[in-house]
Amino acid sequence: MAYAHPSNAAVCRCGQTAIDLAGAPIQSVTCYCESCRTAGHAFEHDLGAPRTVHADGGVDYCLYRKDRVRIAHGAQNLRDYRLKPDSPTRRVVAGCCGSPMFLDFAPGHWLTVFRDRLSGPAPEPRMRIMTKDRPEGVALSYAIPAYGAQPPGLMFKLLWAWAAMGFRRPKIAW
Ligand SMILES: [Zn+2]
Ligand SMILES: [Zn+2]
Repeated sequence: MAYAHPSNAAVCRCGQTAIDLAGAPIQSVTCYCESCRTAGHAFEHDLGAPRTVHADGGVDYCLYRKDRVRIAHGAQNLRDYRLKPDSPTRRVVAGCCGSPMFLDFAPGHWLTVFRDRLSGPAPEPRMRIMTKDRPEGVALSYAIPAYGAQPPGLMFKLLWAWAAMGFRRPKIAW
């Protein structure tokens, strides 16, 4: 049965898995790194996942404080995927319908939620990151700033959010 979620939530395609999100994201970004693209294509191919990788190779995310995220429904559906067994980054997919839900860099205080999954008004991406990894031949428009790697501005926003959290590192578990 589909879960009746509040206006601000990440919800899987079939509606059985939902993650409540409180407040606005720290930042909304498009990531062009190789890992995001590789994982996104593998999910599409292996799990029949909804498409997350744009034609230009980018994946849209909204970054939320971990203390503002709560697995509201369908926790038993969530599955971890890692590109390498010892990677600190896991991508978590709702097994009910193969929807990629979020990316968790374990030591980080933020959760990287797939923007496509947001049920409410999702903030437009404000920056492109890791563009040095973008597919060959892709020309990016200058509509929003683009950075080859992780830009200092994003690091600063993450640090600022962490200070507001009292420098705690909540774990996302279920
Ligand atoms: Zn589902
Ligand atoms: Zn990435």
